Amino acid sequence: MQNISEIEDLVKIISKLPGLGPKSAKRIVLKLINNRDKLAKPMAKALTEVCKNIVRCNICGTLKPNLIECSYSSCEVVKKKYNKICVVENISDQWSIQSSNIFEGYFHILGGTISSVGQRKEDLLINSLKERVNRDKIEEVILATSATVEGQTTAYYIRDSLKNSNVKISKLGQGLPIGGEIENLDDGTLHSAFINRTGLDVDSD
Ligand SMILES: [Zn+2]
Repeated sequence: MQNISEIEDLVKIISKLPGLGPKSAKRIVLKLINNRDKLAKPMAKALTEVCKNIVRCNICGTLKPNLIECSYSSCEVVKKKYNKICVVENISDQWSIQSSNIFEGYFHILGGTISSVGQRKEDLLINSLKERVNRDKIEEVILATSATVEGQTTAYYIRDSLKNSNVKISKLGQGLPIGGEIENLDDGTLHSAFINRTGLDVDSD
């Protein structure tokens, strides 16, 4: 590759994206340069729009246009009222569960797990989860955190945080492989984990 700093900078940025290394980043950059009008310019415009207009809600954690105010029920455009909330670590987990069609209800995206490096409990949206549960008269909170140490620690922490809310708390059950991250599970495994979800009593471990 010639030393053109603009191109090198772009390759460096693109190679930081999930699943891409320097080699695929170079191929992508060449493709963009060779297709300026069809790819590069529309992509630059779309990225600018997303950066300008889309924010993460600091109540429910979902992505939303910054003009929409969170109603506590959900920022998602939902016509129905639900009595269940599914709690996940990240937006990619929400998208996996939505595309599997196993769950109908609200989502709550924590924004990480308690023990993630550099992640403080205070930064996770746990207080607003408590408020949503009470305000929206939620009957069941389904903890769909990963089957990792961090995911399970987070699930038990949330269970303890909700102990005064008088709500049924369950977590995903059999079928969830140990170490399994929600976003990487196939639809069949997700279905099985939702159907076999187990109740989490406040006094149990
Ligand atoms: Zn929201």
